[in-house]
Amino acid sequence: MKAEIVSIGTEMLLGQTLNTNSAYLSRKLAESGIDTFHHSTVGDNKDRLYQAIKIALERSDMVITTGGLGPTIDDITLQAIARISKKPLVFKKEILELIEGHFHKRSIRMPKNNIRQAYIPKGAIWLKNAIGTAPGLIIKAEKKYLIALPGPPREMIPMFEKRVLPYFKKRIKQGSVILSRTLKTTGLAESQIHDRVSRFLRLAKHTTVGIYAHPCQIDLRITSKAANISLAKKNIDVVERAIRKKLGNLIFGSDNQTLEGVVAGLLAPRTIAIAESCTGGLITSRLTDIAGVSKNLLLSIVAYSNKSKTQLLGIQDKTLKQFGAVSKEIARYMAVNIRHVSRADIGISTTGIAGPGGATDKKPVGLVYIGLSTKQKTTVKKLLLTGTRGMIKYKASQAALDMLKHHLSK
Ligand code: AMP
Ligand code: MG
Repeated sequence: MKAEIVSIGTEMLLGQTLNTNSAYLSRKLAESGIDTFHHSTVGDNKDRLYQAIKIALERSDMVITTGGLGPTIDDITLQAIARISKKPLVFKKEILELIEGHFHKRSIRMPKNNIRQAYIPKGAIWLKNAIGTAPGLIIKAEKKYLIALPGPPREMIPMFEKRVLPYFKKRIKQGSVILSRTLKTTGLAESQIHDRVSRFLRLAKHTTVGIYAHPCQIDLRITSKAANISLAKKNIDVVERAIRKKLGNLIFGSDNQTLEGVVAGLLAPRTIAIAESCTGGLITSRLTDIAGVSKNLLLSIVAYSNKSKTQLLGIQDKTLKQFGAVSKEIARYMAVNIRHVSRADIGISTTGIAGPGGATDKKPVGLVYIGLSTKQKTTVKKLLLTGTRGMIKYKASQAALDMLKHHLSK
């Protein structure tokens, strides 16, 4: 079965909305063994929309549209589908009742416009929208399927997972499945990772490894095409084991895991405190994205000025003058002192020059020191980072979390 996704909305053509629906749908279809051969994006224009869906239906067996099912005048997907399927739009009382209920629950009077959403092409299967008002549709015409889903991802995703996927699982004979697993690394560059794992890129049959670079993070995505999910998993396991053997703890997690999530998970029962200068609270912000970390994160301060380093962290003026705020010694004092002040098991600190100004002959933009202090030992790591101010802050936060991860998983 060949699928095609038609994303509808002028906002995407103008670059104002990122088309996340097509990426999501392609991923899900691949997992179900359905090949996606085309993506197209079209604006809210009657004729071009009609053409886009028509072309898609000519070359694909399954066409999924997202968007344009709303109540406003620019939402014209239903009209285009009715024209293509040569079916009249018919009123469905049950749909209107659901839409009315949606407004009633919120004590809002239903705008007249929403009545439009209760009209669907005759003979179509309609799909209840649990979040919003626009119902989805499945239309079967000869051997082809046309599926219309709402645009907002939070409405589209549950509708696709709860209604569309089960519908096709029952009807499609599965030829093969495509499954992926992503291993995430930090600390090495893309080419370094490539050098280390190139031997394993084609270890199992129909299983490939792609390397994807993100800021301070290189992902290895293992993808396997196999007759069924368990075979695909087996193939992925073989490659994953080989890669893990080679990269060891450079891999911090997989799939949906984040570095901050992994660190937060490793913390308990230990406690930490953070004193951030150049990262401006970014490490704390990333860690506090993880629910439950309050049990282990005792205190965090942004000691940006020299005065705050003196008043809150007890670093003497003369020490700051002697070494300069961006120095190994100050990173060390910050980490040790935040640990003492908070009585945490671990103290973490950052101090650096994020740029674009502030560099001296001896201290370039991107020079960052990260301190990690425990009762037993205090270490300071020196980094020379590149990029914009934002990138340097992010890279420094990543290095600090990575340092913490290595310490915690020892
Ligand atoms: P619509 O159903 O066309 O009224 O779309 C409503 C909203 O859903 C749009 O304003 C976008 O914010 C969002 N949306 C629509 N299509 C997509 C898409 N392909 N990817 C991500 N968001 C989308
Ligand atoms: Mg729209």
